[in-house]
Amino acid sequence: MWVSLFLGAFSILIAQSSLSARDQPNFVLIFCDDLGYGDLGSYGHPSIRTPNLDKMAADGMRLTDFYSAASVCTPSRAALLTGRYPVRSGMCSDRRRVLFPDSLGGLPESEWTIAEALKSEGYATAAVGKWHLGHRHQYLPTEHGFDSYYGIPYSNDMDRVSNAPRGAAKSLEPHINWWNVPLLRNQKVVEQPVDQTTITRRYTRQATKFIESNRENPFFLYLAHSMPHVPLFRSKQFKGHSLRGLYGDVIEEIDWSVGQILSALTENGLDKNTLVFFTSDNGPWLTQGPAGGTAGLLREGKGSTWEGGMREPAIAWWPGQIQPGSVSSELAATIDLFPTFLSLAGGNLLAGLEIDGHDMSPVLFEHSQSVRHHFAYYRGTQIFALRMGAFKAHFMTKSAYGRDPIETHDRPLIYNLQADPSERFDLGESRPELVAAFENLKVHYLNEVEVAPSRLESRMPKQ
Ligand code: MG
Repeated sequence: MWVSLFLGAFSILIAQSSLSARDQPNFVLIFCDDLGYGDLGSYGHPSIRTPNLDKMAADGMRLTDFYSAASVCTPSRAALLTGRYPVRSGMCSDRRRVLFPDSLGGLPESEWTIAEALKSEGYATAAVGKWHLGHRHQYLPTEHGFDSYYGIPYSNDMDRVSNAPRGAAKSLEPHINWWNVPLLRNQKVVEQPVDQTTITRRYTRQATKFIESNRENPFFLYLAHSMPHVPLFRSKQFKGHSLRGLYGDVIEEIDWSVGQILSALTENGLDKNTLVFFTSDNGPWLTQGPAGGTAGLLREGKGSTWEGGMREPAIAWWPGQIQPGSVSSELAATIDLFPTFLSLAGGNLLAGLEIDGHDMSPVLFEHSQSVRHHFAYYRGTQIFALRMGAFKAHFMTKSAYGRDPIETHDRPLIYNLQADPSERFDLGESRPELVAAFENLKVHYLNEVEVAPSRLESRMPKQ
């Protein structure tokens, strides 16, 4: 099948199923942990300096309405790698919201990941960074299509040692020995506890080495930073670097890392043949005080289905293919990256696969309308909210980490996210036609998206 991509003044043809290896683009997916919508210079932060990300946006596209498919780590990552809402894989739960070191579950073998799909198209694949889709060996990245893995298997605040002080995670002077998190190379623990002060630098070195050693063949690099999830750590080179304090130091080191990746691509002559996409798994962890980020003008943060929990900074970069300095407010999500990458690689989705992502090439390369017209905000297995065009309906709400119960709205709260991005003015009373349209859309999701049993509930048996 042939498709035409109109790229500004240019028009090229891509053969979707018969690309030669030389024509297949590389993919670098940089995924942060708990980065807020308002934490980058190019997204309006007044004192965190992110010159490399700002330049990446100036040379590429900045997306304003890009979503993760969950407001916490594990389901968000499952959705990213499978192109499916996390309820389909069971990587979500209404009780335990993420995997813990005592969890038995993980991403099922039956799930088809971006890495597996691209591997079958001849790509070299590597995962660097936080995984959080199951730390038992049968669930690790090397069992899910990645040729290699270097990183931590779950969050950097898990495995806290018993004598660590209360509130250790949100400390602005945390000590690496307060946690016992392992660092893995492929399936083997190579350091425990991992020295988190150098982790961003070491991930970056792994990433640039992988780029250099795969310059002659197509590759997919998944670089999932452990930061800025608390506890916050940065190398000595970034100590006191930011006006924003420790959190700012951490973001500015990630920004440095992005600069290293883009330089490695350019120096190896790969910049014209590589799509780099930068985003985050969920919004800022607001309850961590100064150790957490900001969602800017968006309401709430991590753990919530208000915008601040799931709308993310997102920057796409591919010199010669993406119009420099473009800004898109089209609706798109992490689940769209899988079909986008696979299509550009010349591959096809498996017949019969129920996938929720859409190829977002028209947004990226034609700067035109998204194929995506609606999006579901799940919390665990339940649809809390839906977006359709500019409008959003909340059927249920809850503060992210408060003890308040879930509030169910008999008549959904309706917001116009373009006119009211902070979700302050409920329109439901005056727009009954929108209420009806959203009720219908909810029925559509309930009918179409099958909920698999949770893979997060189980705990290790007591010894
Ligand atoms: Mg996270």
